[in-house]
Amino acid sequence: MSTPWRIGILGCGGLGKAAAALLEPKAEMRLVAVCDTQGWAHCPAGITAADVAGVAPGESIAAQPIGRRSDDPIGEMVRLGVAGEVDGFFLALPNLPSDFLPSVVRRFAEGGFQGVTVDALKRTVAVEQILALDEPIREAGMVHMTGCGATPGLLTAAAALAAQSYQTVEAVDIRFGVGIANWDAYRATVREDIAHQRGMDFEKAKAMSDSDVERFLAERSWILELHDMEHADDVMLERAGVVTRDKVKVGGLVDTKRAKKPVSTSVQVTGVTFEGKRSTHTFTLGDETSMAANVNGPAFGYLKTGLWLRGRGITGVFTSADVMPRFVR
Ligand code: NAD
Repeated sequence: MSTPWRIGILGCGGLGKAAAALLEPKAEMRLVAVCDTQGWAHCPAGITAADVAGVAPGESIAAQPIGRRSDDPIGEMVRLGVAGEVDGFFLALPNLPSDFLPSVVRRFAEGGFQGVTVDALKRTVAVEQILALDEPIREAGMVHMTGCGATPGLLTAAAALAAQSYQTVEAVDIRFGVGIANWDAYRATVREDIAHQRGMDFEKAKAMSDSDVERFLAERSWILELHDMEHADDVMLERAGVVTRDKVKVGGLVDTKRAKKPVSTSVQVTGVTFEGKRSTHTFTLGDETSMAANVNGPAFGYLKTGLWLRGRGITGVFTSADVMPRFVR
């Protein structure tokens, strides 16, 4: 494997499209493969952001000039990876039901893929399923990086770093603000946040039609409030030895009609130093940075770390709290 690394993206939705745009000016990574529910594309010379941008919400890459239709587009990605045509994949797929992404990662491992996969999973239950795949992933000779978006991801890693000032960590408090001009551009993200609302769950959110979603959002003035979320930052920080999971709190506000963030995104880490002083470190993201920038930037940074580990013969599952992301030039 040498640069530019050949990259595949699973999912041509909000994150997938933004990921293609983010990769375009990079010298170290080249997008060569994409897929969605109905189709896929493989262009060794490179897929442009414009090729992916043409896919309207709910439509498929299969209808684009570079696309092909398939009954098993994920299988096509696994095949390309196993054939050595792709070095690393970003799984920008919905995780409804909660074992869907773990099942995709298992397919790569069982197929014998020897490269790197990265996800931006959010739920604790899903990341736990991924962590349980460590053995088949190591046996395949693969690296999987999990929880590598914004939260979990950038903020979890920041918490693990901030914790170093303390002898004991008492609390990690993550509060995020997201502004999306049109919910339709991030259908899975919005449905997964709806699944966290009172009286809702995965199955109910998945079964909602687009007009059900619109009605649900309109009834709440297009703003979703999220408290005490079941979010994998907890299991990741516990595994990294920072703090037990019950001390990690995650919540936020998502505006599904306006791009402006309703509140700044931050992580606060409270602890006591070796001198007995209690303090709080706060890391706040710039309000101008979008969800797409804060998810996709770390995802590719961690993909680069995965490629670096793989190049040194290290395999298995790692979280964003286990290692630092490397910067993709
Ligand atoms: P989206 O709905 O806009 O797009 C999903 C894409 O996946 C579509 O192209 C769809 O065709 C494709 N897809 C769906 N099922 C598929 C299947 N079975 N096979 C192949 N392709 C399939 O989604 P999005 O809003 O871009 O979100 C993607 C994921 O990113 C979500 O799971 C969300 O939770 C996650 N996310 C994570 C963070 C974080 O900070 N960790 C933040 C935002 C979003």
